[in-house]
Amino acid sequence: MMTTDANSANGRPHPVVLTDFDDTAVAQNVAEMLLNQFGDPDWKDVRQSFRDGQLSLKDYQEITFRNINADRATMQSYVKEHANLRPFFKDLWGFCQSNGIQMAVVSQGLDFYIQAVLEREGVGRVPVYAVDTKFEGGEISYHYNHTDPGKEDQGNSKGFVVQSFQQKGAYVFFAGDGHSDLEAARVADVTFAHRNLATFCDDEKIVYQPFKDFRGMLVAVRNYSLNGSNSNGTPQGVEA
Ligand SMILES: [Mg+2]
Repeated sequence: MMTTDANSANGRPHPVVLTDFDDTAVAQNVAEMLLNQFGDPDWKDVRQSFRDGQLSLKDYQEITFRNINADRATMQSYVKEHANLRPFFKDLWGFCQSNGIQMAVVSQGLDFYIQAVLEREGVGRVPVYAVDTKFEGGEISYHYNHTDPGKEDQGNSKGFVVQSFQQKGAYVFFAGDGHSDLEAARVADVTFAHRNLATFCDDEKIVYQPFKDFRGMLVAVRNYSLNGSNSNGTPQGVEA
């Protein structure tokens, strides 16, 4: 165990690695994959209402999954067949495990499909901060256990999760791609961004590293934790 002890000796905050799930930890949007396969045919109309700002992400997700035509086990086996983690996710998890660094998935998605992919990939122990679901009597109920106090009606908050780690002394590396990642990118110590999140960061002048897989994040976390250099996350030729 080199990092946490070494870091506290150096007086530096200990690193924590947090990543979005759909389109980031995995190469696909698993929620949309399930809706395409099992959802009510009009689910894209509901998505359009969300994109037009008429529905929250929370309502969009609850409405579309309420009408889904499959049980939990069926959806889990479908995503196990069709979704895959991006390169170097497991290397990063392995590095974090070996060095006492916390790593977690932080998602606005649903716990059952995230867990299915992680288990299929052999990393079912990665902690998940997502929407907790229960399947009972053919219905799904949704439980939001990571809400910003006072804003419970908005569902989980990735910014709240990042700040919760920081309040415990963490230096947070965060990766994401979408609008729900922006509040996390605003407060994370190092942000890796792609797709829409990169555009939002450009608009708000938030500094970020480009993301295409987890190699750059692995290099940045390793550099930070092993020698304290390069805390802005720029790869410096260390082979991942
Ligand atoms: Mg995403």
